[in-house]
Amino acid sequence: MTALDADRRRELCAALRARYPWIDHDEIGPRAVEAGECDRCGAEARLVTTCGPTRWASLGRTCAEDVGERAWCDGHAADAAAWLALLRGLPAEADAVARLWWVATGEVRIDASNVEPLLAKALPGGRPRPR
Ligand SMILES: [Zn+2]
Ligand SMILES: [Zn+2]
Repeated sequence: MTALDADRRRELCAALRARYPWIDHDEIGPRAVEAGECDRCGAEARLVTTCGPTRWASLGRTCAEDVGERAWCDGHAADAAAWLALLRGLPAEADAVARLWWVATGEVRIDASNVEPLLAKALPGGRPRPR
């Protein structure tokens, strides 16, 4: 396996942040969760952490929408509504963005050849240019 080197990863972080400012949100997005797949469906990127009576600790967009506010405790009902609205506003490629972010930060290590499909979705029209 050839992982991306540190320079390349730094470049990617910067490019993703520039294009998708929501990456820095503390409560939704790839930084708000532990890197991985949605606990409910296992098929989408985790984008939000829950605290409600359900058994899922982290959910992706589709499942958060499906489960709705009951994924959170009563004390977080207002926040939950806001988080769900934010999740709804994310671009279609948000899952690829999150996965690429985890690769860029080193939280997830994948072979460089598997990075291309993520790049094509999250940063179409180009890899970040070397400075
Ligand atoms: Zn899911
Ligand atoms: Zn709560």
